[in-house]
Amino acid sequence: MEAKCRVCGGDAGKRHVAREMMYGSREQFGYFECAVCGTLQIATIPADLARHYPAGYYSLEGALPKRPSLKRRLAAAWAYSRDGGLLGWACHALKPNPEMRLLGELGIAKDDPILDVGCGKGARVARLRQFGFSRAEGIDPHLDADVSMDGIAIARRARLEDVSGSYRLVMFHHSFEHLPDPHAALAAARTLLAADGRMLIRVPTCSSQAWETYGTDWVQLDPPRHLFLFSRDGFRRLAEAQGLKIERIDDDSDAFQFWGSEQYRRGIAMNDPRAHSKKTPLFDATQIAAWDAQAKKLNAAGCGDQFAAILGRTSRTPE
Ligand SMILES: [Zn+2]
Repeated sequence: MEAKCRVCGGDAGKRHVAREMMYGSREQFGYFECAVCGTLQIATIPADLARHYPAGYYSLEGALPKRPSLKRRLAAAWAYSRDGGLLGWACHALKPNPEMRLLGELGIAKDDPILDVGCGKGARVARLRQFGFSRAEGIDPHLDADVSMDGIAIARRARLEDVSGSYRLVMFHHSFEHLPDPHAALAAARTLLAADGRMLIRVPTCSSQAWETYGTDWVQLDPPRHLFLFSRDGFRRLAEAQGLKIERIDDDSDAFQFWGSEQYRRGIAMNDPRAHSKKTPLFDATQIAAWDAQAKKLNAAGCGDQFAAILGRTSRTPE
């Protein structure tokens, strides 16, 4: 049977073969671009996907963040609600906190329920709690066990479909592209939204200069874990089909799109020791700074390799 786009139902267009390069197995996976919406997607969802999230997968590893420094707390307070006067402003100018600024702009209160879907070990949830968001929690099906902080479970081993409740904010930080059925995921997440609830979805996008430039060496293709690299058009169609509208979209790409893709172009896996050598780094600080500046320009022009979308419900019932 001919492959169809799992986003819009369109026919498969251009095909690609990409290699696993995070661990460097170089196993090959077929992808295709939808001829209608342009979304790039894996041709066949591997039946053994769990194999590609081995023990030590980065988001499931490591300790929870330590209590933030006074400087970071001041920066967060200023970003969230312009509290802290000149000192807060100065701390934020030195080390901005865009996530706290966004929560402030969305009017998310400190006691609003927040759900982080695909939270990994729960680092982001822990940080939100440290900044006072007392009802932030997360779920991740890949966790071995629930994660607690100060005796409270903050991250649970669960799937989106198993969650009930009503949340002011449901977030997917680079987890949505890992889910095999984006329509089902959005539908499930929509049922968890409070009346004034919002979704925040951060994903890589193939509507980007990085995909145009690097093709299958593009670091955020990440086969086979990234099942969908949504085009901007495909993402909008997906949202609309599920009774959601995109209220705001901000590109938030960074230098990673360049150094990661350049590294793959040279045939060096992400976890190759050469890539992490402090003595002989692959790219020097001047080069990274130049890529950072270039990423900011791409973001402003709406062609960075990832975006953050804010979605709200429409009155229309989903298809
Ligand atoms: Zn499509």
